Amino acid sequence: MTENIAVIRGDGIGPEIVDQAIKVLDRIAELYGHTFNYTDVDMGGCAIDKWGDPLPEDMLKKCVESDSVLLGAVGGEKWNNVPGNMRPEKGLLRLRAGMGVYSNNRPAKIWPQLADASPLKKEIVDKGIDFIIVRELIGGIYFGEHKTEYTNGKARAVDILTYSEEEIERIGRIGFETARKRNKKLCSVEKSNVLDSSRLWKSVMHRLANEYTDVELSDMLVDNCAMQIVKNPSQFDVIVTENMFGDILSDEASMITGSIGMIPSSSLGAASCGLYEPIHGSAPDIAGKDIANPIGTILSAAMMLRFSFDMPKEADAIENAVSAYLDEGYRTADIMSAGKIQVGCSECGSLIIKNLKREE
Ligand code: NAD
Repeated sequence: MTENIAVIRGDGIGPEIVDQAIKVLDRIAELYGHTFNYTDVDMGGCAIDKWGDPLPEDMLKKCVESDSVLLGAVGGEKWNNVPGNMRPEKGLLRLRAGMGVYSNNRPAKIWPQLADASPLKKEIVDKGIDFIIVRELIGGIYFGEHKTEYTNGKARAVDILTYSEEEIERIGRIGFETARKRNKKLCSVEKSNVLDSSRLWKSVMHRLANEYTDVELSDMLVDNCAMQIVKNPSQFDVIVTENMFGDILSDEASMITGSIGMIPSSSLGAASCGLYEPIHGSAPDIAGKDIANPIGTILSAAMMLRFSFDMPKEADAIENAVSAYLDEGYRTADIMSAGKIQVGCSECGSLIIKNLKREE
């Protein structure tokens, strides 16, 4: 098969980690006889420097016309003082909206080899951590009106949170469908004791539950969910929630699994063209040092093969190669522990490729 992939290396560690994922995709192409064509896309701080815009229209067009998009990360201190609508992260929000990817899927799964890296007590980790957060991605407060007003020299800031029934229903369906393919338990997270948008969220989820009678639906307030993720994470199978709650809870969930550098994500809409990226940022503190963990990006490439290109065996091959690399005792600095062998970003990519085998 031939697939056209738009590649956004972005800022900070973005270029280093994306290069490792491309090395892996190229080896998969050799093993399985596929052709992956790559188109470079500028987005984020590097695009501001080059084009004066975090995502110029022609760059967005390249993404929308591709079969899928692989992204490293964007942002950094250099661009912290540019106006709000010109910040690197605005490019990312425009990309998600332009591609119409409304569902962000973030697995929170502990690799047995890294159980010691979890900050949770062993007895909690031993019960197993394996859940998915389905986060609404192009609605809610991040996409509402933002403004700061001044009266007599005093500032007042406003951010508007809106959800329509349609927006809730389409992400709700993804939550139920995802649960259906797993252990059939869906937890809907909101703040219905305070917010109208959350009360609407809850009522739509309960209406949908009548159609998905094989899935057990539960409700949880977001503050309780933040506690339960550290207290008893094994209770969760699939969590479905709105944009900002999902942003915060999925970072919390990533930490209990050991390292933010290990977690991939996929963002999909109605079409098969998806956006695949690790969940971490551009990590400017370690950029250019060849010490970043590229596994979150490599596993994002595996998700691209599984969900957008219908290549499950190729995706399994990548996940098995990552597992074999961990079994061999190699670790990047972020997950290093006593008795293991420390490697850099590029070496990590090469060692994973060495373990890639054609799965039949
Ligand atoms: P971050 O995720 O970049 O880094 C947080 C911490 O985790 C840092 O100590 C970093 O060194 C470490 N880390 C992150 N990824 C790692 C990896 N692959 N390997 C090893 N260690 C890793 O978050 P931050 O420091 O809050 O943000 C840095 C910049 O990234 C900011 O400009 C922020 O806006 C941006 N950001 C971008 C995205 C994105 O592009 N999707 C997401 C979050 C933050």
